[in-house]
Parts: sequence; structure tokens; C-alpha cells
Amino acid sequence: MKARMIKTGLATASLFLASSLAFAAAAGKPHWGYEGHEGPAHWGDLAAEYATCKTGKSQSPINISGARPAQLADIRFSYQPTTLDVVNNGHTIQVNYAAGSSIEVGGKQYQLLQFHFHSPSEHTVDGQPYDMVAHLVHQAGDGQLGVIGVLMKKGKANPVIDAIWASLPTQAGEHKQSDTQLNVADLLPAKQSFYNYSGSLTTPPCSEGVNWMVMQAPVEVSAEQVAAFTNIFSKSVRPVQPLHERLIHLSQ
Ligand SMILES: [Zn+2]
Repeated sequence: MKARMIKTGLATASLFLASSLAFAAAAGKPHWGYEGHEGPAHWGDLAAEYATCKTGKSQSPINISGARPAQLADIRFSYQPTTLDVVNNGHTIQVNYAAGSSIEVGGKQYQLLQFHFHSPSEHTVDGQPYDMVAHLVHQAGDGQLGVIGVLMKKGKANPVIDAIWASLPTQAGEHKQSDTQLNVADLLPAKQSFYNYSGSLTTPPCSEGVNWMVMQAPVEVSAEQVAAFTNIFSKSVRPVQPLHERLIHLSQ
């Protein structure tokens, strides 16, 4: 009984984190954006709780370059289908994921909370951004976040994006649910090698200790699918941050 209660408490904490990330403004958190005096250059000054955005030494995104080949543990994906639950949180389109999907990497399990998009990609590779990116946000039992980046380049239409965009909430705060089932596993590239480094949330409060795993191989999206997102969010990208002492590894 006690174990069950602790487990429920963790699940509740995870949900709370997911919704507090999504609805920071609604919860009375200081407003931030991608332009002007609320833009990325000023995040660290908007509120004391955002200070890490300017003082942190392990910030994300970064330019991925000079990654060192390494024998990293594989990411073991255990993703289940979910019914569609999409929210426009004022900064991005976020798909909330039903409990019960997870990854295991290096003996640690992370539960999938949500995924969302940026265009162009926030991480660059050798100085170049991709056309769009999906960030799959996970949380381990100890609270650590693990984020998988799926880079996207213009090409064929992506069926997972099609399913989500069919219920696209265009207004900030708008929430859409449908019986449509989707599985984010279908968004992953076939090739599983990934870049790994320690970074942060790319939005305020820019919290560090995030285990970043950026899939090396991109997947395709159509130009129309990218445009459907950028028509709502013309800016959704934090500039790349200094690497400082960190190393980037590339799994073999
Ligand atoms: Zn993101």
C-alpha cells in the first residue's frame, strides 16, 4: 500500500511538472517569449526563478559539432499508443502522452510525459539547423528529465504529424482531444544512433541536469507541415548556448 502511494505520488508530481511547463503563464509564472524584452537574451532577468537562463554553464540548445564516438547504452523504447491530446500552450504545440510509455537508458527508466515542436530545430549540427524538431520529454523517478530530439528535414509528409495537425489548436490555451490513436514510436528514425550530452530545458526556467539524446538521423516532414506550425509560431527557438566544459558523445 505504501509503495503504491509513493508511486502514485511520483506520477502526480510528473503530471504536475508537465502541466506546469505547459501552463507556466496561467500558473502565475513570469511571462516570456522569443522576441523583444521578453526574448531569450532577457529570460534570466525576467524573474529570479529564471536566473539559470543566464548563469547556467550547461545550457541548451547547443551546436552539435566534434562529437566523440562512444560505446553508449542503447535507448530501449517502450512506447504505447495514446489517444490524441494536443494543447497550444502559447509557445508550441504540445502532445500530452498517456502514462505507461517509457525509455530505459543506462539502467534508468524515464516516463514519457509529452512531446512538442520547434521550427527550425533548436540544436544545430555543424552550424546548420534542421527544418523542425520534436522534443520528447521524459522524467525519471528521481526527477531527472531526459529529452529525445527528433530532427526533421523537408521531404515527404509525415503520417504522425498529419494525425496531430488534423487536430491542430491554433489559439493559445486551446486544447483538442480526439479518439485518434497515435504512437510516437512512429516518429523515430530507423537508425538509432544519437548524440548525448548534459544540458537544460530550452525554455524558462532553463533547469539543468537534463539528459539530452538527439537522434543523429533526421526524419522527413513536408514543407506544408512545417508551414502549418510556423504559421502559428513564427518564432519558437532559443539560440545555441556555449558548450563550456561539456563533451558531446555519439553512440556507436
Ligand atoms: Zn523543446
